[in-house]
Amino acid sequence: MRSKIVAGNWKMNKNLSETQVLLEELSEKLPSTEAEVIVAPTFVNLADTARMLKSSKIKVAAQNMHFAESGAYTGEISADMLLNINVELVIIGHSERRAYFGETDEFLSKKVKAALANNMRVIFCFGEELEERKAGNHFKVVESQLKNGLFDLPAEAWQHLVLAYEPVWAIGTGETASPEQAQEMHAFIRKTITEAYDASIADEVSILYGGSVKPSNAREIFSKPDVDGGLIGGAALVADDFIDIIRAS
Ligand code: PEP
Repeated sequence: MRSKIVAGNWKMNKNLSETQVLLEELSEKLPSTEAEVIVAPTFVNLADTARMLKSSKIKVAAQNMHFAESGAYTGEISADMLLNINVELVIIGHSERRAYFGETDEFLSKKVKAALANNMRVIFCFGEELEERKAGNHFKVVESQLKNGLFDLPAEAWQHLVLAYEPVWAIGTGETASPEQAQEMHAFIRKTITEAYDASIADEVSILYGGSVKPSNAREIFSKPDVDGGLIGGAALVADDFIDIIRAS
């Protein structure tokens, strides 16, 4: 069901003590909001985070998972391991996973299927690189990431998906897509989903924008009709900034 979502991807930041401090501050300052608020700490702190947020409105997501159920995959984490510590949400396809860890569309599609088969919700990330935008290929790139990553899923699967459009040139760079650029791409994404499935699936899926969202630009970006909130990196590590972004949603 389409709803406003503000999700913080903490990446490889915050040790356990720092995680506890940030969670306490967020819990204390969390404004009343209709938005779904999610934090994604590093794996090693997920179980503690899930415990700390047990009766909180803030939900916990993992930043990644493997598609296999178990086995010889040194360093990896399975859906069952996440579910067993009460983590039911997972980010898949973040541009850093694609760029630094060689995760291809095909590989990501397996992860999405594994997460959904385990009744998890998926925040699926995608977006073009700077050269692709400069060459005018950004729509083509996004269309192919969606097609290869998601379009062989059955229609029912879409109720468990959240999309996050994250132009790579705007991630961690301080450079943000303009609200108009975000809206243009989000509308294109809904059109592409309508063509592959139908308008009701396209209308019902939440599409987040990610890429240097901060308190100063969140409200304008979130006000666009096809933008349903944000996936936040750097600004999610500072409680007051994340809270201001939640207020802007
Ligand atoms: C991200 O990593 O998903 C992200 C959007 O990062 P930042 O907000 O720091 O650009």
